[in-house]
Amino acid sequence: MSDISLKSGSSIEQPGMVPLSSKEATSLMIEKAKQLVNQLVDCRGHDKPPFLPEEYSSLVNIKEIRKTHLGDTSALLLKFHDGHVLKVNQDHYPVRQNFSCAHEIGHILFSDQKLENYVHNIEYRTFNSAKTMEIRVIARETLCDAAAAELLMPELVFRKYLSTFGLSITSVERLANVFKVSLQAATRRINEVSVEPCIAILWYPWPKSKPKGLRPAMGRLSRGNAGYMLVHKNVNISSALYKAYQNDTIIKTWKLFKDGNTVKRLPVEAKGFGHGETRFVISLSFPDSQQTGSSIKQ
Ligand SMILES: [Zn+2]
Repeated sequence: MSDISLKSGSSIEQPGMVPLSSKEATSLMIEKAKQLVNQLVDCRGHDKPPFLPEEYSSLVNIKEIRKTHLGDTSALLLKFHDGHVLKVNQDHYPVRQNFSCAHEIGHILFSDQKLENYVHNIEYRTFNSAKTMEIRVIARETLCDAAAAELLMPELVFRKYLSTFGLSITSVERLANVFKVSLQAATRRINEVSVEPCIAILWYPWPKSKPKGLRPAMGRLSRGNAGYMLVHKNVNISSALYKAYQNDTIIKTWKLFKDGNTVKRLPVEAKGFGHGETRFVISLSFPDSQQTGSSIKQ
C-alpha cells in the first residue's frame, strides 16, 4: 500500500500507442474493477457489503486463497496453467488480508489490461535509473491499490452508506466494520468518494520512536476538495490533535487550510486509534460547515 500518487503530469507511454496519462491508467483500472463489482452483484443478487476477495476469486480465475506465513510479505500471486493461487499472510489482521488479496486481484486486472507495457515506458527525466524503477513500481502498486479500494468499497455502495451514517469519526469506524477494511482504508475512501465536502487525514507520530508530534498523510482528495492544503503540516505535542493521539476521546478543534489564495479555519474532529507503535489519529475537517465562520483573505 502506498499514499504516494503519481505526479499528475507524468505520462505512461508506449511507442505506437496513444500515450496514457497516470490519471487515464487509474481510470482504466477503476473501470475494470467496477465491471468486476457489477459481475459479483449480478451473481449474488445484491449489493450489500462486505465485498470480500473470496467472492471475486472465481471471476478472476483464482482457484485458491491460501492463508500462510509469509514473513514481511503481505500476499503473493502464483500463476499456474489452470488458474492463480493467492497466498496471503495469515499473521496480518483480517482487514489487512482483505486489502492485500484485493490488491493482488488488482494485479490480475493490471496484467489483463496489458498495463505492464505502459508502466515500462514511464518516462522519468532523471539520470538515476534506480529512481526510474522505483517510480514504475510505485505507479504499478498505486494502480492496484486503486482497484483494491473499488473492489472492497465500491464507490456507489460506499457513498450510500456514508450518507446514511453521516460524516463523523464514528462513521469511519462503522464503515470500516461494515466493509471489512482497515480504518485507514475507510478514511482514504471517504476522501475519494464523499459528495459532501470533507477532508479526512491520517496522522502518524513523528519521529516514530520518541514522538514529538504528528505528521499528516492526506492521500487523494475528491475533485471538490482537491484544492485544500494544510497551512501547518506537522503538529506538536501541545496541539489539540496530539491530545487525540494521547487518549481515546473524540477531540473537537480547528485547523487552518489553504484553498487557493484563501486561508480558511475549518472545524475538525479527531480521534486516536491503535496502540503503541501502530497508534495513529484520524481527523475529519468540514469545509462547508456552518460553524466555519472565519475566512481570512491573504
Ligand atoms: Zn502489488
